[in-house]
Amino acid sequence: MYNGSTLNPADYSERPFILFWEVTRACALACRHCRAEAQKKPAPDELTHAEAMKLADQIAQLHPQMLVLTGGDPMMREDLLDIVRRTAGSGLRVALSPAATPLLLRTNWEEMRTAGVSSLSLSLDGATAETHDRFRGVPHTFDRTLEAARRAKEAGLMLQVNTTLSRSTIRELPLFEALMQRILPDVWSLFVLVPTGRATMEELPTAEQLETVWQRVLELRKGNLPFVIKTTEGHHFRRALLREAAEGKAPAPRHLIPTRDGKGVFFISHTGEMQPSGFLQISLGNVRHADLIKTYREHPIMQKLRDDDALGGKCGCCEFRHICGGSRARAYEMTGDMFAAEPLCCYAPIAMRTPSS
Ligand code: SF4
Repeated sequence: MYNGSTLNPADYSERPFILFWEVTRACALACRHCRAEAQKKPAPDELTHAEAMKLADQIAQLHPQMLVLTGGDPMMREDLLDIVRRTAGSGLRVALSPAATPLLLRTNWEEMRTAGVSSLSLSLDGATAETHDRFRGVPHTFDRTLEAARRAKEAGLMLQVNTTLSRSTIRELPLFEALMQRILPDVWSLFVLVPTGRATMEELPTAEQLETVWQRVLELRKGNLPFVIKTTEGHHFRRALLREAAEGKAPAPRHLIPTRDGKGVFFISHTGEMQPSGFLQISLGNVRHADLIKTYREHPIMQKLRDDDALGGKCGCCEFRHICGGSRARAYEMTGDMFAAEPLCCYAPIAMRTPSS
């Protein structure tokens, strides 16, 4: 039985593991589940070039282990290369999360890599051209994504493919598995939908459906996969993994990163609003007026989000709270309380079981 110890008792009180900077909200796509509700043109109050350079220096000082430049579509930001050079030049690992548009296919990947981009993440939310293009709202996006993936790999970039787990995409999982064997990314990330932006409650998978997905991923991991599978906003997969290892059905994972919204994760919007994550849309202040490092380290909400014992509901007494703790963003969107129990977890913690259960 799992005893509640963490494999990696990481301390994220000084610096995040991963910081997402939404450099713009401009994007040519209109995806059904877009967190950012992206628009065709940059917002008039987007951070200016001078503000972006200043922020790049502050982020370098905070020094997250990974910086992800996201959007909207980061490629729509004219000074993107300057941002990459400034942050990578300060020793940060920089990843790019672009939209698969004709603009992406015109990108000079050699230039991006030389500027300091080390990895690229692309979204595939349909396993066929028909389902993916319907999801993205623009024809040919599926083909462009596959082509961009090929070119990024050719340029020596690390490739991550992100897939949203929703009611409709879960049905396509076997097709996705075959597709990943074709693309061969370094990482396949399964993102459990959070009902923010354009994403709706109706599209949410059930807790039971997620358990079935976790079991399938555990099976896949036993088969010498040529890529890593991780989850985003699906922290309870770590519980499934550790329970299986504790039952002797799989080797214990060597490395689990116990991050969640606000705990090792931080987000800065296109206008400089600081949030615990892109999906936990609570403003902690704006970098135009407030200090980034002080906000990350000292804001009372950030300190509480990092405290596993501050969790409410069953997450608060769960033996997996230090390694999991559930999605704070989903709890907030579905209950109004960011410390409430993860709504899409059906696990009964040991502390809550009656002698007969
Ligand atoms: S009850 Fe909460 S902490 Fe425990 S496994 Fe489920 S989501 Fe994770």
